[in-house]
Amino acid sequence: MPVDLSEVPTDELMKEIQHRLDCTTKPEKRIILIGPPGCGKGTQSPRIKYEHCLCHLATGDMLRAAVAAKTPLGLEAKKAMDAGALVSDDIVVGLIEEATQRAECSKGFILDGFPRTVVQARKLDEMLAKRGQAIDKVLNFVVPDSLLVERVVGRWVHPASGRSYHEKFAPPKVAGVDDTTGEPLIKRKDDNADTLKARLGAFHSQTAPVIEHYARKVVALKADRAQDEVASAIASALS
Ligand code: AMP
Repeated sequence: MPVDLSEVPTDELMKEIQHRLDCTTKPEKRIILIGPPGCGKGTQSPRIKYEHCLCHLATGDMLRAAVAAKTPLGLEAKKAMDAGALVSDDIVVGLIEEATQRAECSKGFILDGFPRTVVQARKLDEMLAKRGQAIDKVLNFVVPDSLLVERVVGRWVHPASGRSYHEKFAPPKVAGVDDTTGEPLIKRKDDNADTLKARLGAFHSQTAPVIEHYARKVVALKADRAQDEVASAIASALS
């Protein structure tokens, strides 16, 4: 059934068409974002995605969607997620293997929250090598742990888009609702100080070695700065 675009303003349609045309000449890019919970990966991803015509694959978002839909995979993942522990490698690698083949990922992808362990990184490299592809860049968002508690505990998210807000640092225009869709925002169950401690522990012990694994492709970004400053650092890293 054709989509009815008659209500979409012409300037928005033209902008979208221009963007799609621009995308046809963009080089392919496969990027990994690494950083602790609350480091700003989710905030920066929409800009990177738009600018480079990539898809954004956040394993945390995919797993939360599976938990909400009560799929067998979601039921299996829930316990580990509620405890701030990692879900099995097989589950997340399977999710990424399927998702990276979608049409929206034809120019490449941004991986957010994956790979979180060296085992996952090796499996990802093997999967890409079979397709004649490889990771191009790894952006490492560096933020001191002491800043993350306030960022994470005050966070509100719009689950459908992954947009995130902060009650103090980046509030929505109307409290409790998403700026773009007007839909309700939620608080993630694991965004509390106790679970954050476990998540930070898992991050430092298991994810730091992933940075070593990709050492030659890593760009370290000071991410405890204003959003626009971080965005320009990312733009130069990816240019
Ligand atoms: P995030 O939204 O990235 O903070 O992820 C939320 C939770 O989902 C984590 O605490 C883990 O339980 C699970 N998770 C997300 N990505 C992965 C991954 N690559 N490997 C294992 N567990 C993951």
